Amino acid sequence: MRRIVYFDNNATTRVAPEVTEAMLPFFSDAYGNPSSMHAFGGDVARHLDAAREEVAAFLNASPEEIIFTSCATESDNTALRGAAEFYGPGTKIVTTKVEHPAVLQPCRRLKAQGYQVAEVGVDNLGRLDLDELEAQLAGTNKALVSVMWANNETGVVFPMAQVAEICREHGAILHTDAVQVAGKIPVDVKKVGVDLLAMSGHKFHAPKGVGLLYVRKGTHLKPFMLGGHQERGLRAGTENVPYIVGLAKACSLAQGLMADEAVRLKAMRDKLEAGLLAACPDMIVNGDRFSRLPGTLNVSFKYIEGEAIAYHLSDLGICVSTGSACASGSLDPSHVIRAMGVPFVAVHGSVRFSLSRYNTMDEVDYALEAIPPVIRKLRELSPFGPGSDVSTYA
Ligand SMILES: *Cc1c(COP(=O)(O)O)cnc(C)c1O
Repeated sequence: MRRIVYFDNNATTRVAPEVTEAMLPFFSDAYGNPSSMHAFGGDVARHLDAAREEVAAFLNASPEEIIFTSCATESDNTALRGAAEFYGPGTKIVTTKVEHPAVLQPCRRLKAQGYQVAEVGVDNLGRLDLDELEAQLAGTNKALVSVMWANNETGVVFPMAQVAEICREHGAILHTDAVQVAGKIPVDVKKVGVDLLAMSGHKFHAPKGVGLLYVRKGTHLKPFMLGGHQERGLRAGTENVPYIVGLAKACSLAQGLMADEAVRLKAMRDKLEAGLLAACPDMIVNGDRFSRLPGTLNVSFKYIEGEAIAYHLSDLGICVSTGSACASGSLDPSHVIRAMGVPFVAVHGSVRFSLSRYNTMDEVDYALEAIPPVIRKLRELSPFGPGSDVSTYA
């Protein structure tokens, strides 16, 4: 069997075996509906309560503040559209240029519906412009802010405590897409002071199709999903008990492993980064190296296409992502790379490596052997390069 080196964990992760095991009884023996009158359903409801408590403890929240959803996209939509509807069209919405589409697109919909929407920029290291955030909030009556905790493409971690402080000063409600930090760095909603927070199971070893929204007591939302009393009326629909149990298990596993894993992931990521920098000329690291998720590395190989690199690495069993949104066949660089103002010769050559609990140093060594020859070969074939007309663009 061909060796697979999976370095695309910011896209999705393998389900932990402990999570699968925790879920299994809820497909077979304990399949009752937690809302049923009978004890068979009631037993399942107790497991749902226990899962809610486990997840709440993971975030330092109260169980009543946890709303289970089908994914982080649903959580982001529920938070933004639900709060915007509750607080009304006078609400100013402030987000960033580098959010996931699950935040950007609901914000753009709200803009089309008449809300005032602003997108705050980042610098060339992908760091949030806090002065611009402050300026966008100055003089507002009611504002809803949505700032991701860490960026999925670059791994840059935003200073959420400072963002929350700025929001508090202006009486703004703060939502954060915490998908990429959950399970990787500690997330304490009380200490940081966020009002709404989205998480996704499949980004930290729970299955695809389960997420949650933290709603701080006192924060109001109009429900997005109507049709039932579940989740305090904020998310109608029978709870996906097996996956929620899996999500809770993933939280407690991550809690126990996080500190050691952060060290191990950073060592692997740093070796990969140093090895690639040494072996590949004309390569730059994208994103702030001093405030970055431990397992994420985003680099640009100048003069070549990220897609070509990813395609050749795929042949070698190495799974990575590129910084392009291959929308409608045009290989436009991603909005994140563009917002950072990455130099023209480097925007198209962006590649993301994202590591997890199941990666090993041996895999990093394999990648370091495999990647430099691919880069050399593609550079030989490239019409662009130092000295060509194209390389003289900004
Ligand atoms: C993956 C991801 C999402 C979407 O999560 P789903 O559960 O797949 O909907 C949202 N935000 C960020 C930052 C992500 O990385």
